[in-house]
Amino acid sequence: MSFNDLGLTPELARAVAEKGYTTPTPIQRAAIPGVLAGRDVLAGAQTGTGKTAAFVLPILQKLATQSGRLPRALVLTPTRELAAQVAESAREYGRHVNLRTLVIFGGVSEKPQIEALRSGCDLLVATPGRLLDLVERGLLDLGQVRCCVLDEADRMLDMGFIHAIRRILKLLPRERQTLMFSATYSADIRALAARSLREPLAVEVAPRNAAAERIEQHVYRVPQEHKRDLLVHLIDSGNWHQVLVFTRTKHGANRLTQALVAGGVRAAAIHGNKSQAARMRALSDFKQNRITALVATEVAARGLDIRELPHVVNFELPNVPEDYVHRIGRTARAGSSGSAISLVAPPEAPLLKDIERLLGHSLPLATLPRYTVNPPRRSAPPATPVPASAGVPRIPVYRAQPRRHGRHPSPRSHRAQSGKER
Ligand code: AMP
Repeated sequence: MSFNDLGLTPELARAVAEKGYTTPTPIQRAAIPGVLAGRDVLAGAQTGTGKTAAFVLPILQKLATQSGRLPRALVLTPTRELAAQVAESAREYGRHVNLRTLVIFGGVSEKPQIEALRSGCDLLVATPGRLLDLVERGLLDLGQVRCCVLDEADRMLDMGFIHAIRRILKLLPRERQTLMFSATYSADIRALAARSLREPLAVEVAPRNAAAERIEQHVYRVPQEHKRDLLVHLIDSGNWHQVLVFTRTKHGANRLTQALVAGGVRAAAIHGNKSQAARMRALSDFKQNRITALVATEVAARGLDIRELPHVVNFELPNVPEDYVHRIGRTARAGSSGSAISLVAPPEAPLLKDIERLLGHSLPLATLPRYTVNPPRRSAPPATPVPASAGVPRIPVYRAQPRRHGRHPSPRSHRAQSGKER
């Protein structure tokens, strides 16, 4: 699906193309036609999903051309940073249409904002406190607002803006369209939605509460057959104590666990073929730091109460992009950050694209470190998880590599792929 399929005017489609976007994100696909059709929208979407364009584009289209002095669309945001960002996006997306966007927020002198309002605007982006202040002093009239967006509504409520929001909504014409965006759904949010939205179109694109922003995400592009060696290297060199590793299949989980154990990493696998007792044991060993790596399939990991991890590794990317968000959500630690690393082999490139589309941004590519490459082992060592007390020695598996390009066997350690080659 392209932006043209969403019913946007050529002017807006052009601005979007100039931003370099080729495909609408899921929230944009779901919300844009609904907003254009005049529906109220309740959207569960957080920063990074492309939510700003999901409401700014159709609003600009509905505003069509510059009219009088008074704002016809209003976006409320919790912070001045977000207000400035939304206004900036509106100006960029609206660069080929004749509309004026203004932004007002507290904490700075009100004079220039009052001055700017005198010249009028079509779209007004504001934080609730300053907005209400200006309205109550008769410096701003919201009587022409036909569309109102509550952006990051949950944060606005957290910040104590509920009364301001209610008062602002009362000042708006009853005949209007209201859109509400929130990353979470508390009882207060649901109450606000019930009060202010009419038969809203419900759109949900990412799991609630997935604190994706706090997670440092990286991609290593690496051949499939190098992945386990790279993983051993990352665990060793980063001195990782706890890492949850996702594989796509049970068989893959077993094989990787064997390879990690052979590489000197204390590891255990959990998947559907393991007994409940074995899974519980692996989990408890993991939680108590008796094993370093827990290798899991998607399904097995879902049922487990493991959160707040420092590291999650996607040994293989999931087929369903939403699963990526579920997986990396495991690293969400209150107050601190986690890391989520994806090892992406060339055939997985389309899966990566799907994930990036869902996230609304690309994932940073990390430079491959030097790691030791060993040829595939013919007979794998036993897959048994290593008991707590065993104190696994590091098993050196140094073998000469197969000849490459007719040269002598290459050294054990090599720089795998330069940035250019990738
Ligand atoms: P937001 O969730 O609105 O904060 O947007 C997150 C980031 O995604 C912003 O940097 C946008 O510029 C970008 N973005 C929004 N829509 C798209 C799209 N369709 N394709 C690629 N990037 C996008």
